[in-house]
Amino acid sequence: MASAFGHALTAIALSSGVKKPLLSWKLWTLGIVCSILPDADVLGFKFGIEYGDFWGHRGFTHSLLFAIMLGVFIVLFFYRKHTSNNEKLWLTSYFALSTASHSVLDAMTNGGLGVAFFSPWNNMRYFFPWRPIKVSPINIESFFTNRGLEVIYSEIVWIGIPCAVIALFLFMLKKGANK
Ligand SMILES: [Zn+2]
Repeated sequence: MASAFGHALTAIALSSGVKKPLLSWKLWTLGIVCSILPDADVLGFKFGIEYGDFWGHRGFTHSLLFAIMLGVFIVLFFYRKHTSNNEKLWLTSYFALSTASHSVLDAMTNGGLGVAFFSPWNNMRYFFPWRPIKVSPINIESFFTNRGLEVIYSEIVWIGIPCAVIALFLFMLKKGANK
């Protein structure tokens, strides 16, 4: 994975595309949860699930179908009331994109197996041809070492800066649409 910080930052950047009345701590919190949740699959290692399995790390929970399902689930569960159908569609898209952004970042990391984007139909693991993000250690102790610093540096350059650009772009787009 990229680090949890890198994933969370992406979810926050994507929220610049969400219309103002929908922006709230609830939205940001749920967006961050979506962006990190796919890595809950590492729990499978404890139960003997192999990396390359269906439920293995970067398997089904990193697929596009899972992203859409999570988006739908979050809106059904947390935005049932006082939300128009149009807003629900926006929110579902936002949460699905925040989840899918996790897999996109993972597919740009330099380690591990690729991402099962098309699971359950095709369990092949994919990487993008260009992988500048250093893979983040999963346990916290090794995060605060030189390797951790290298990860942070690569994420500032390859996640932080693009996120700032995306946020600015979405913000301008939204402003333009409101005129
Ligand atoms: Zn991941």
